[in-house]
Amino acid sequence: MRNTNKHGLSRNIPAAVKREVRQRCGFGCVVCGLAIIQYEHVDPEYADAKEHDPNKITALCGACHDKVTRRVWSKEKVIRHNEKPKCVVDGYASDFFDIGQNVPKVVFGGTEWIETPVIIEALGETILGLARNDDSGMVEMSGVFRNDDDQEIFRIENNEWKGSADNFDIDVVGNVLTVRKEKRKIALKIRVEPPNAFIVEEIDMLFRGARISGVRGQGFNAVAPDGSTIVVAGLKAENCAAGVIIGETSVSLGQRCKKLRL
Ligand SMILES: [Zn+2]
Repeated sequence: MRNTNKHGLSRNIPAAVKREVRQRCGFGCVVCGLAIIQYEHVDPEYADAKEHDPNKITALCGACHDKVTRRVWSKEKVIRHNEKPKCVVDGYASDFFDIGQNVPKVVFGGTEWIETPVIIEALGETILGLARNDDSGMVEMSGVFRNDDDQEIFRIENNEWKGSADNFDIDVVGNVLTVRKEKRKIALKIRVEPPNAFIVEEIDMLFRGARISGVRGQGFNAVAPDGSTIVVAGLKAENCAAGVIIGETSVSLGQRCKKLRL
């Protein structure tokens, strides 16, 4: 495959242009709303394009992109959806995490939680948790993430995740998902390694006065609304009832664990 077209335009779309396309499209496929996307020159097609104009490039998931490439779908259909992207209409882009049949290890900040159903709870609400679906026998993850202004940015409901179209950026590269609040400011970064591990690489959120922030390898801070704080650099725990619990006036770590190593 040639790396340039007849006008000498490189096949590689610059990162800043891709981000503009994501922002305009609400971070997902303009047709179906799935969040793992590819970039497609719509009008003109890449072969005839003289520049990478973000307004002439659209976001399509692999399945929808394939239908366009095979000409099962018309270019007109893509142009129509590009003018009214599904994620902008719905307010979010979505996809599914593959969690599997066993409870995965959850890595969060500098901590590792094995066989633990509640990873983070704040003010009585589960921020990140796992439960077995009685019908399917599969493990399902749920969670609600906010930014440091206490605005919801990302939610997981029984493994389906939804990232708000109001975010500055949601980018999925390989198996890493990054939500940015602004340029160079990460609100949430998740790496999936199914079926064994779910890794919160980076988080910075506020929930009704409770603050949760951390970076993998550096540990994390949990702060209650009254200022009570726990700072953890590293911890490995197994079979706990809960991981991090933030109350109005307290923060606790590792509830009823069979094994806990700091
Ligand atoms: Zn699609």
